Amino acid sequence: MSLLEGKRLYDHVQRFATAFGPRPAGGPNETAAREVLKDYLHQHGIQQTTNLPFSTTNTWGYGLIVPLILALIPQCIPHTNRYLRTAASLLSLQQSWLALNGQMRYQPLYRLYPQYPGGTLVARIPAAQTPKHTVVLVGHTDSNKHRSTFSPELKRYLRLGSTSISVAMLGNIIASLLDEPRSRLATTAYMLFSLVSLIADELGPYVEGANDNGSAMACVLGLGEQALATPLNSTEIWLAFTGSEEVSHDGLNVMLDHYGAQLQDAYWIDFEMVGKGSIHFVEQYHGLNYLVTCQPDADSLHLAQTVAAKHPELQVTGSKPLIYDEVATLRRRGFRGITLVGLDSDGFLGNWHQRTDTIENIEPHALERAAQFAWHMMKHLD
Ligand SMILES: [Zn+2]
Repeated sequence: MSLLEGKRLYDHVQRFATAFGPRPAGGPNETAAREVLKDYLHQHGIQQTTNLPFSTTNTWGYGLIVPLILALIPQCIPHTNRYLRTAASLLSLQQSWLALNGQMRYQPLYRLYPQYPGGTLVARIPAAQTPKHTVVLVGHTDSNKHRSTFSPELKRYLRLGSTSISVAMLGNIIASLLDEPRSRLATTAYMLFSLVSLIADELGPYVEGANDNGSAMACVLGLGEQALATPLNSTEIWLAFTGSEEVSHDGLNVMLDHYGAQLQDAYWIDFEMVGKGSIHFVEQYHGLNYLVTCQPDADSLHLAQTVAAKHPELQVTGSKPLIYDEVATLRRRGFRGITLVGLDSDGFLGNWHQRTDTIENIEPHALERAAQFAWHMMKHLD
């Protein structure tokens, strides 16, 4: 059996991800998954592993809910100074903006949210000869919650809903500054409604995360095994099992803090939910707000396009889906990066933040295609 065969990668999803159940960032299940991965790597001859520990909270909700509450308090207390209201709303918008951009960890209040012991596992597989290139394969280990806002009925309104909150906050700043009671009341009411919706969205259970992102863990591991069995000539491979992606890309940020200088010229291939639907490389990233967007670097995009043209049998094409993953952080910090992603026929990520994200709904052929495509990208670079 080939190391990248779908059935084998499917077994990896089961063994290294879903066997532990839901994996909230920093929780014991995520830690256990990382430990088992590390043992497996050691048993298979990959000795160069490092665990990067860090402190993390366990949901993005804090980063959106707390700023809204801080803006609403002076609005709801009668006779507050209008400059105080304006300043609170302004600060609140700026803080939510950080959360929407995957930078919640830079909020000054971040350390006050409940903290848990997170980690990122990094492994290195040397090239056969002197390395000329480095490829970092990324798959996050944490899972998100079941969210009603991501349901099949509501997900098409995600960007509209999220952007409308930012617009209401901006309107609230202006209304507070001008001390215009009716607009202030309208924007405050919308912010209150948003607050209730965001809290309701937090009440769902954590999901199994077979697709998001057990599928990535399986592909990264399978590709590591492949590189170990048939080493690339002049390309060193790093495997990055990152924690806390669903919170604030914390695990990747910590890895960049640690190895950034060494990996400045590396090619980063991120896997997101490649266990369902058709496989694509992301040509443009769209976040949960119309203003939040980013692009892969030109080198990675060119590499993906070349491999897609050379291997039509893999049926991998470019796409511009609703996704704002770790590549956004890579690009913001000046690194290369591109994502391989699985999309359903409706153009959305499969079972995204839904309780249906279970092992039964993983399609082995999708895993195999994503892994084969990445392998061809690595070989082409080599
Ligand atoms: Zn994910």
